[in-house]
Amino acid sequence: MKPAINIQNLSFHYEEAHPILELDTFEVKMGEKVFVYGPSGCGKSTLLGLIAGIFLPQQGTLEVLGLDFGSTSKGKRDEIRGKEIGYIFQTFNLIPYLNCLENILLPCIITPQKKDKITKPLEQEAALLADHLNLTDVMHKKARQLSVGQQQRVAAARALIGSPQLVIADEPTSSLDGKNTNEFLQLLLREWEEKKFTLVFVSHDERLAEEFNRSVSLPEMNRIRK
Ligand code: ADP
Ligand code: MG
Repeated sequence: MKPAINIQNLSFHYEEAHPILELDTFEVKMGEKVFVYGPSGCGKSTLLGLIAGIFLPQQGTLEVLGLDFGSTSKGKRDEIRGKEIGYIFQTFNLIPYLNCLENILLPCIITPQKKDKITKPLEQEAALLADHLNLTDVMHKKARQLSVGQQQRVAAARALIGSPQLVIADEPTSSLDGKNTNEFLQLLLREWEEKKFTLVFVSHDERLAEEFNRSVSLPEMNRIRK
């Protein structure tokens, strides 16, 4: 089986010429849960943007879910991201005036291919995820009326709808207190146990590393910061 993520000899910079990431090798197996850590500014979000096919490296190999992004059109990358990659953001990025259910269903509206993957009625699929993420009681509340812990669990449900093969979480717990961090992590990992998607979870909080199959220090992996 091909790895979920295969990065070789990658070099990336933004418009300004100075390089941000230079990685010899970063591989993630299908179904693995990997923890990536490093301080603010070390390039964690940039790495995730590359893995999601939002940015392309100037050099090297970047293969995600068996597709070589370097030779894949933007349209095809957008399609695979919409269909097979779930993204959880640090700041939730919910639509405040939509309710919990509508926020969870949003990817199905944006990406019809995602909707087509779901065999159950959409509301039933959302209700099941809401149950797993402890959101059943707030399904019809507006996102802006939810606590931060609830908001991040809605964001997780939104990332998980349609069973993407790869889930990327960019510091999803950094706005949460200890209790909510713990609840969020346990519920996300319980979904991983059940569905065995590939999970790349980024944080600057190394204490969370023990919950994962493997942990990787981005500054150690990145030749730029050495
Ligand atoms: P982290 O997520 O680890 O905090 P980032 O990937 O956001 O780090 O940033 C890594 C470096 O890239 C920083 O120096 C940041 O200023 C720079 N950077 C991030 N996004 C952009 C962008 N869109 N354009 C130019 N530079 C950027
Ligand atoms: Mg970041």
